[in-house]
Amino acid sequence: MGVDRNLNNSERHKLAMLKAQRLAQLGPDRSLDQITKLVTQLLGVPTSLVTLLGTERQWIKAKYNFLLSETPADLAICQRTVERNELTVIEDTVLDHEYRDSPLVLAEPHIRFYAGAPLVTSEGHPIGCVCAIDYQPRKLTDRERETLLSLAELARDILETSNNVGFIDVVTMLPNRQKLLRDLETLHERPPEQQALPSTLMFVETTKPGYYYELVRAFGIDAVESQSQDIANLLRISLPPSHILYAVTLSRFAILLRQDDKADTFEVLESLGARVSGREFRTRLPIRLNLKAGYYDFEPALTKPVDAFRRAFSALHEALNNASTTTPYSESFDEVQRRQLDLTNGMASALDASDQLYLLYQPKVSLLSGEVVGIEALLRWRHPQYGEVPPMDFIPLISQTTLINPLTRWIICEAAQAIKRFEREGLSMVVSVNVTNTNLVEDEFAADVLSILAEYGAAPGYLEIECLEMEELLQDIRAVEALQTLKAAGVRVALDDFGSGYSNLNYLRRIPADVVKLDRSLISDIARDAGSRAIVFRLIQMLQHFGFEIVAEGIEDQETVDCLTKFRCDTGQGYYFDRPLTLEDVLGATRKRLGS
Ligand code: C2E
Ligand code: MG
Ligand code: MG
Repeated sequence: MGVDRNLNNSERHKLAMLKAQRLAQLGPDRSLDQITKLVTQLLGVPTSLVTLLGTERQWIKAKYNFLLSETPADLAICQRTVERNELTVIEDTVLDHEYRDSPLVLAEPHIRFYAGAPLVTSEGHPIGCVCAIDYQPRKLTDRERETLLSLAELARDILETSNNVGFIDVVTMLPNRQKLLRDLETLHERPPEQQALPSTLMFVETTKPGYYYELVRAFGIDAVESQSQDIANLLRISLPPSHILYAVTLSRFAILLRQDDKADTFEVLESLGARVSGREFRTRLPIRLNLKAGYYDFEPALTKPVDAFRRAFSALHEALNNASTTTPYSESFDEVQRRQLDLTNGMASALDASDQLYLLYQPKVSLLSGEVVGIEALLRWRHPQYGEVPPMDFIPLISQTTLINPLTRWIICEAAQAIKRFEREGLSMVVSVNVTNTNLVEDEFAADVLSILAEYGAAPGYLEIECLEMEELLQDIRAVEALQTLKAAGVRVALDDFGSGYSNLNYLRRIPADVVKLDRSLISDIARDAGSRAIVFRLIQMLQHFGFEIVAEGIEDQETVDCLTKFRCDTGQGYYFDRPLTLEDVLGATRKRLGS
């Protein structure tokens, strides 16, 4: 495995000690108790123990006929077995110069005979013993020695395997996420000195989001896994022994600690980044560590494990978005999350209810004639709990779910009916509908739009589809094909928000669009700023040269209208002309203008 290739001998020793401690923290194990019982039966001794040795303490992991559950490490006779890493027999402790004065020999329980076989981990480090104890001197036959060694191997296997099935991350050999949840559940069943102490759960992300996936693409999964092992070891070595480290994903770790120890953790995290970016730590890949931590302080007895997990996780995600390295959990993260969850969950019933979702229509005005040449349908949600919710608060969420498909279909049905309403009054009006890329890549989207139009008897030439983010759109051939199908059937295609974010003229030529809508951020300054004016003027010229019709969005004053008219922009839309209106209001205004 080579999980510790970056460590020196003393660091390896420390790693073994930490493993012993971690195994000791796993809680009682009945199979190990059976081993101690077997030792007493097969060797004919009254007492047997399975012990794990830490730096300061020896934990008695399983026992038969023994009172203590731990001893100071320096008193432990097993220390000799671990140090020598071989079967150790003391036939009479009273004659042993090292242990004859030990309180375990001089006082209760008056140990006289000791035989211990080391527990050696799969990495080759001794971490404890299986031992046989008697209260009178005795000898050990060769056969009994063999038996004790075999039982120690068995105990090691039980410790490493059965305790860890499903709970160890095979890449880093750290306890995994499932183990973390189980440990959170059993936090108040811990030994008395650790019980129900105020705890902290911390999630640590080691790189920028998505960086490991880039590394996998560039170097392969094995190189990246080995990288993750190196970082896991570095964390394990650097953190104080009382901290329990878990692997959550290749780049993400969790740490369970006592609240009082948090300052140490912060210090370690701060210094780690420096160690890795310096050349001290050899890694296979040229990684950039970017440590971010989010944590949640809690009382184990009063907090559900899933809540502790979720809150610490939420704090990490906040940390990823802000400048400081560590971010504590705050209730306000939850409120935002809960609202988002409520909105996502509430959409299904909103679609069924008749009084929550509705559309307003914002007129688009020809800058040449002053006529309304089209209207854009803009979705509104009157939420039973949150009141009027703006579309930008829920469209991006719903777009991540399949609900965006029935939602957009409903809007297209409404648009088709609006087209027919105008037609019945002897008017013609192009109605635009905003769609997301999720809609466009959906099977049958174009076919469904056309069949809805046919169902209501609305001519395709009066429907316009406004789409966004052409870079993403061009990445999926299905989206481009859907637009081509719609355009071929006569539906108009508009590219929305051009000039916000990343807009590329070359991409624009590959999208089958009729209309380009210049984003409000481009338009809003042109009356005051000569630079913006020059850009918009050139853009309009160039885009018209390519054959696009231009709509300027977000027009709020007469000066802007004057500029755009001078630049021969085709159409304008904005509060200066009209705010989004109900369909009845648009109809009323149109009738009035035409004097009918
Ligand atoms: P959009 O498609 O670019 O729509 C224009 C937005 O700018 C609308 O905001 C409109 O009310 C606002 N607006 C119009 N004129 C002005 C102005 O002069 N000044 C200012 N400050 N704002 C103006 P709204 O309705 O909040 O919609 C925001 C975005 O939400 C829309 O941007 C669109 O991307 C999305 N959206 C709205 N309805 C739908 C829908 O039915 N489906 C989908 N997929 N997205 C929608
Ligand atoms: Mg739009
Ligand atoms: Mg727009």
